[in-house]
Amino acid sequence: MVKEIYIAGEWRLGRGGTIKSYFPADNSVNAEISTASLEDVNEAIEKAEQAWRDPSWRNRLPHERARILYKVADIIETRVDELSRLQTRDNGKPLTETRGLVMSAAATARYIAAACETFNDELTTQRASDFMTLSVHEPVGVVAAITPWNSPIASEVQKLAPALAAGNAVVLKPAEATSLIALELAKIFEEAGLPKGLLSVLVGRGSVIGDAIVKHPLVRKISFTGGTTTGRNLAHIAAEKLITTSLELGGKSPTIVFDDADIELAAKGVAYGIFSSAGQACIAGSRLFIQHKVYDRFLKRLNEITQNLRVGHPEKTGVHMGSLINQKHLESVDRYVNLALKEGGKILTGGKALTDGEYAKGSFYLPTIITGLNNSAQTCQEEIFGPVLVAMKFEDEEDLLKQANDSCYGLAAGIWTENFRRAWKISRALEVGTVWINTYKKFSISVPFGGFKESGIGREKGRLGILSYMQQKSIYMGLNEEPNAWAE
Ligand code: NAD
Repeated sequence: MVKEIYIAGEWRLGRGGTIKSYFPADNSVNAEISTASLEDVNEAIEKAEQAWRDPSWRNRLPHERARILYKVADIIETRVDELSRLQTRDNGKPLTETRGLVMSAAATARYIAAACETFNDELTTQRASDFMTLSVHEPVGVVAAITPWNSPIASEVQKLAPALAAGNAVVLKPAEATSLIALELAKIFEEAGLPKGLLSVLVGRGSVIGDAIVKHPLVRKISFTGGTTTGRNLAHIAAEKLITTSLELGGKSPTIVFDDADIELAAKGVAYGIFSSAGQACIAGSRLFIQHKVYDRFLKRLNEITQNLRVGHPEKTGVHMGSLINQKHLESVDRYVNLALKEGGKILTGGKALTDGEYAKGSFYLPTIITGLNNSAQTCQEEIFGPVLVAMKFEDEEDLLKQANDSCYGLAAGIWTENFRRAWKISRALEVGTVWINTYKKFSISVPFGGFKESGIGREKGRLGILSYMQQKSIYMGLNEEPNAWAE
């Protein structure tokens, strides 16, 4: 049976064609899903416009809006097993990882609910006798939320929760490969009591449906997570319309091992930082810089750890890396590995797809470490978005910073050292939005996240993340009973 989509609070077949969701581990079909047509886009956005303007939502007391998000969090948590399984079926990540993403989605909804009900407008400094001044925040209107396939439930709630809490309506366009979880989220928001029209989930191709959504004149904000090329296109559209964007884009993050690092801690952390999610993470630590004195020792230990990682069926327990999203992506990863060889690199471990037995029908790739390249190599400059780590040497802090900052990206970095002064100094000098010291890929919803340089614009998360879905307004209230004096 073809799955319905969620158009302005109604479940029905979209008027576009259909797409299939595949389980990346064996290419079996999870579902056939109907897609939106351009008429559906117009309808969803027009109804979203009516819904956010309806005072029953935008003027609803913050704690009552928050109540819906608390309920969303509760429902997500009670359905954690089922939702993790659904996301694993959609994108091939091991169940342990998708469970973490589901729990993070619940935590986000709960945190944003608390931020919403405790959010204050300000009574600003004033000249008491003449007038008083206030700074207030209002919704922006219809928000376009566009998301990628790698961590969908987490990135979608990260957009839906603050946008709706701020009083907006949202039209969500999930990635083609992972639309099932987005549709399930719509059911959860509906069950939690979100009024009709405030949320639509329009499944469809990015270049057609995504494009039509962001170009629609009633869309007043684009919240995008995905690749830098797509993000740049959306920024052009936003510039034309003079609307705001938040862009969470690609990365090529450095992970740095100083000679005083705890080698065991660092080796395990570096392996986790690149190979979890099979490297399909914007923040993957894909450029490894090792200080020359510990280069051989560190690489030897990292290699042992990497060779012991279990690649396998994502629904089995004890698996570290599942399947890549699809065969086309695997071929792109493999092309980069071949490019690395042409550029003079050597494969320390991995470097090929797994194609026999239980791997035959899926898109599995071995965790791969490449040595012998300089940071200027194309392999080190472009995002591979797969389980491929390039290990390089550095001499001292100056040399390290020159290499680590030589990237168009600036999303994240890892520093492994026992010297806290050095960790502080280097973390301030790295041109990235997030630095992890003696840990990697840890997240807290209360901490802002976003990129420097071509890794993005704007910040998500944090208590004030909700502000990026609002517009500030200043109000002067005259208290003087006399008419305005001239030239004052
Ligand atoms: P992508 O840019 O190809 O697609 C992302 C979304 O944009 C999808 O829903 C897609 O359908 C849509 N889209 C594509 N073209 C569009 C267009 N012309 N107009 C409107 N929408 C369009 O990215 P992807 O391959 O799905 O995801 C991988 C990328 O996402 C990587 O570069 C990764 O680093 C990045 N990412 C960034 C973050 C972050 O927080 N910085 C998080 C996760 C993923």
